[in-house]
Parts: sequence; structure tokens; C-alpha cells
Amino acid sequence: MADPLDELAGAEALLRQTVEDALQYLASLDERPVRAAATDAVAQGFVGDLPEHGLGGPPALARLASGLDGAHASAGPRFFHFVTGGGTPAALAADWLGSAVDQNSFSWVSSPLGAQLEATAVRWLLDLFHLPPTWGGVLTTGATMANFTALAAARGWWAEQHGVEVDRDGLAGLPAAPVFSSGHLHPSATKALAMLGLGRERPVRLQVDDRGGFDVVALEAALRRLDAPAIVIANAGEVNAGDFDPIEAVADVCQAHRVWLHVDGAFGLFARLAPETGLAAGVERADSAISDGHKWLNVPYDCGFAFVREPARLASAFTLAAAYLPDDEHPNFGYLGPESSRRARAFAVWATLAAYGRDGYRAMVERHLRLARRVAAQVEAADDLELLAPTRLNIVSFRFVPPGFAGDLDRLNEALGAAVNEDGRVMFGSTRYRGVAAFRPAITNWRTTEADVDLIVEVVRELGATLAAQAVTA
Ligand SMILES: *Cc1c(COP(=O)(O)O)cnc(C)c1O
Repeated sequence: MADPLDELAGAEALLRQTVEDALQYLASLDERPVRAAATDAVAQGFVGDLPEHGLGGPPALARLASGLDGAHASAGPRFFHFVTGGGTPAALAADWLGSAVDQNSFSWVSSPLGAQLEATAVRWLLDLFHLPPTWGGVLTTGATMANFTALAAARGWWAEQHGVEVDRDGLAGLPAAPVFSSGHLHPSATKALAMLGLGRERPVRLQVDDRGGFDVVALEAALRRLDAPAIVIANAGEVNAGDFDPIEAVADVCQAHRVWLHVDGAFGLFARLAPETGLAAGVERADSAISDGHKWLNVPYDCGFAFVREPARLASAFTLAAAYLPDDEHPNFGYLGPESSRRARAFAVWATLAAYGRDGYRAMVERHLRLARRVAAQVEAADDLELLAPTRLNIVSFRFVPPGFAGDLDRLNEALGAAVNEDGRVMFGSTRYRGVAAFRPAITNWRTTEADVDLIVEVVRELGATLAAQAVTA
């Protein structure tokens, strides 16, 4: 039998060994393939039944550490799939420490340090993003839950316009909620609307063209016709090309109507660190905005942020009361977001902001924007590649178009996307953008350098030439 208490004396040795294993893995990140040939098989090796008698800590951890090839090296510099950050040294170290201290960041009573770090982290993030210091906020598990949290506040406001206290009494008696957005709307926002009982299919997408940007003229007309309170979701950073809705223009329209304006800036809010892009101007005029920590802030999973103009709206949606629960003047974030007992994710947020500050983050974001433009220039210079959208942020949208190729370009690009990921030198996603199969590498990791991004075009052209020749001779 392996009772954890019997391992008390061995715990230190186990943790030291695990630090060794973790350091060895991290040291391999710059060299190791993003995806090893055996990745799936290694991952699928972790099957089997619940042990009746435990192995004990050291053998169990040794087994786990032997299986890290089953993970994609998404913490490393050449994983360009989704919009994935890594963990800065300070964030990772603080996250380790946070796990060791194992705080319940529910309330001041459960964790004074967790509560204070979160209050400070929220204030620092508002400052980092140039949002008003009078706004409130809360850390969440990610942008999906941040959208849920902010849209819960939006739902409370909207119901109040109809004389209903929705958080107390529910949705009964309310009309269907009018929700407007653009073609850039992220599926996590529709997931949040579903969880809130507002309906996944409610958003009306008003878009000017096949790139999806907000049609503000149509929005003005729709709101005038509606003549009732509405929720509008603007998008700062669309996942296929990094596009932005014209947030100032959307805010101008919303200002003249009864609207809760929410901005999803899961990664795009970081454009406010590089104001010369002009992309995320106007977010400060919204009623709520969200972003992700585990994307461009480069803190470990899981971390996101929800911000609202009127902090009391969060308490209205997420309060909980019981005789044994604290009721005091301290920050109690378990009352301001969907989770009650919760990880002290502010350890990592506070530490990375303390370590690198505003100028460190600005330097990182600006480096990523330069790297994205570098890839875009390589795409434009190649006669077998086609840029599908201007590179305004950190995502490069392109496809492989070999001269003289008479076959099906979508099938070729889909096969090429799969071949790139199988190859493992770099990894990024395929998508459908403006009606065609496309690639969308996103540059978000703090470790990424020029040599890393140069592999994107190199690998695509190398594998593409082989595939195109096979397709022609087939
Ligand atoms: C990634 C993303 C989300 C969802 O974020 P999670 O952290 O995965 O929950 C929402 N909106 C946008 C625009 C995103 O890019």
C-alpha cells in the first residue's frame, strides 16, 4: 500500500527529481521537434485500469516524465497553432510556487496573498491595456470563461432595462435577447451565450465583406429598427488573419442607443501595447472587455481576464451567500466570477508583470509583430505562396499556390497542412478563410525568434513542392 502520508519523508527527493525532469525538458525545447514521430503512440500508452495498489510517487512520476514525447512542444518557440503562448520564466516559476503554496483564491479569509495579488494584478492589467482604473475585473480560467463572465454582467444590465433581476429571478418573462456582432465573432462567445441561456444562435452577424469586419451602417439601422436594449460584441483580433472590428465606429453607434458593448480581445487587446498599430483603439469606451493570460501574456494555463466598467455588475451575477462564508471589505474574487474555490492564478500574472513590466511586454509584442511582418514578406516574395490578408497583427494568413498547378488547390493545401504538422519542425493550423483552405500561423510565444519563424515558409515550400509533384504525377 502507498499511503501518501508514508511518502512525507520522500517528498523532497521526489520534487527535486521532478524539477530536474522539467528543466531537462525545458532545455530541449529549442531543439526538439514540435511533434515527435511517436507522439500519438506515447500519449496513447497512458491507458489501463485504476491501480488497486499504488506504485508510489517516484515510479509514478518516472512513468509520467518518460511520456513527455506524447505532448506537443507547445511551450516552445515553433508551435504556431491556435494562438498559443508559453510561460515566461517568471510566470512559470511563480506558477510552481503557487502550486506548492496551494492557495484557494476564493476569498481573503482563504488566501490573503491570493486575494491581494489578484486585486493588484487586475489593476496592473487595466493599466497595461490603458483601460480606466475605475473598471473592475476578475481572473478566469481563460477567454471563454472571461466572455461568459463579462456577458453575464451584460445579461444583468439588459434584463434590468426590462425591469427584471435576472440573476435573482431568471429569464422568465424576458424577450429573446438581441445580440449583434460581426463575422469575426469567436465561437467561445457563442458558447458563453449558450451557457447564459441567451442562445448560441442569437448573434446577428453584420459584416461588410468576406473578411468579416463589422458593418456599422447595418448596425445603426438594426439598432434603430429594434428600438430596445441590445448587446453588441465587437472583436479585437480575429483568429484567421488577426483582423479587428472598427471599435471606435462601433462605439459611436452604440453610444446613441441602449447598448452594452462588449469587446472580445482574447489576444488582440495586446495591440494596445503597440499603439502605433491603431488597431484596438476605442476599447476603453466599451462596457466590458476580456483577454487571455495563457495567450499573449505568456503565463501557464489556465488564465484569462474579464473587465467591466461597473464592477458591481460582477457581484450581482456571481455573489454567493451562506452563514459560514466571509462577508467583509476585502477583495473576495470567488464572489466576482463563476468559480468559488479557485487556483491562485494571480501568482503567475503578478510575477510576470513585476518581472518584465510595461516595457518588457511592449518589446515582446512589438517583436512578434515584426516577426509576423517578416513571414508575410517572405510569403509575398515567394512565387508559390499567396498572402490572403494584410498582416496587421501576429497572424499570417496564406496558402500554397504552385505556378501552373491545375489540380484542386484546397485539397493540396489541406494535405500540406497535415504534412507540415506531421513533419514536426513547425506546427500551425489550417483553416478555411474567405472560402479557401489556408494556413494561419500565429506568433505569440516569448521564446520565438527569426530563425524559428523562417522555418514556416521554408517547410511549407519544401513539403509543398513534393506534394504538388506527387499530385501532378498521380
Ligand atoms: C482563444 C480565443 C478565445 C477563447 O479563449 P480560451 O482561452 O481558449 O477560452 C476567445 N476569443 C478569441 C478571439 C480567441 O482567440
